[in-house]
Amino acid sequence: MDAKAPITQDVLTIPRKLPEGPQNLIGLSRDQMRDALIAVGTAEKQAKMRVGQIWQWIYHWGVRDFSAMTNLSKDYRAMLAETFVIALPEVVTRQVSDDGTRKYLVRIAGGHEVEVVYIPETDRGTLCISSQVGCTLTCSFCHTGTQKLVRNLTAAEIIGQVMIARDDLDEWPEPGTRTEDTRLLSNIVLMGMGEPLYNFENVRDAMKIAMDPEGISLSRRRITLSTSGVVPEIARTAQEIGCQLAVSFHATTNDVRDRLVPINKRWPISDLLDALREYPKVSNSERITFEYVMLDGVNDSDEDAHRLIKLIEGIPAKINLIPFNEWPGAPYKRSSNNRIRKFSEIIYQAGYASPVRKPRGEDIMAACGQLKSATERARKSKAQIAQEAGL
Ligand code: SF4
Repeated sequence: MDAKAPITQDVLTIPRKLPEGPQNLIGLSRDQMRDALIAVGTAEKQAKMRVGQIWQWIYHWGVRDFSAMTNLSKDYRAMLAETFVIALPEVVTRQVSDDGTRKYLVRIAGGHEVEVVYIPETDRGTLCISSQVGCTLTCSFCHTGTQKLVRNLTAAEIIGQVMIARDDLDEWPEPGTRTEDTRLLSNIVLMGMGEPLYNFENVRDAMKIAMDPEGISLSRRRITLSTSGVVPEIARTAQEIGCQLAVSFHATTNDVRDRLVPINKRWPISDLLDALREYPKVSNSERITFEYVMLDGVNDSDEDAHRLIKLIEGIPAKINLIPFNEWPGAPYKRSSNNRIRKFSEIIYQAGYASPVRKPRGEDIMAACGQLKSATERARKSKAQIAQEAGL
């Protein structure tokens, strides 16, 4: 057992209360925004309409300046500007890979930093976002796993990553117009830094904002949450978020999975598979993605492939084979292309789609499992970190 992080939850999720000073409207749910507007004098019967107007300016047209919200009276806009802010995390660096992949290093409250990756395809693209600074868990193949957990991201800091990328892609429609059908940012994957199910409420609230039809309006089917196996929160993901599910599976025996994904010691393979079989949203049209990193001589044998097929029997699934992306000091090597091809064929013969994930952005350390920010958890008290983050 890695002494770094106990498997059971011990994450910084102090109840959210509003910080002193101008309140940030980003990350608030519609109800929270309504309460905030009423708290500063908006009449109850008008509040819902005001929320709708402000929501569209912020999340549909990407407007950050209250004075530009022309369907609100001048006085009301002035009051908003005095009382609230529309604040996004700061982009510290922006790197673009030879293959077009973009990596943003983003700074959040308290000076902590997280990484966000945009992976373009021909007529669409996927944004890989983070949910924690560092990670609660210590998956041994993952660079983030070597970074101590500092804290959970707030809903504002999670949806803020989406808005920063849309800014960079110039994806906001002109005020008064509707979003184009083709989007450069067409999919979100919660596969960046952190275990999203150990920050459930903030992830849920941020994804609800992303899915809201009056704002960014991304379909739930275009959002995939990847978990390493926090079994008690899996069903809740279907009920309260409704997005697609991916699971960091990576091994076919408990011995190997205990080493690769230590949370397996808490909820072993059988518990995890039971939860996936009961996943309320699973169907042939909404398959669960089993992520499987290909590690040379560790989990890539023909026996592993056959065992994997046996384990997931009866679960509508697809298997994503991920050639291991090395990082400084990594204890593993990537399986050979021949081995990956052979493994994929066995899976495919059994009737499962088994695409091999093409490494993207390796030249800028943006590929799967390579993310890590320099933010180290200095010996600060929880209260100190909470206060910095306005939590
Ligand atoms: S794979 Fe995910 S859960 Fe595991 S250490 Fe990396 S970021 Fe954390």
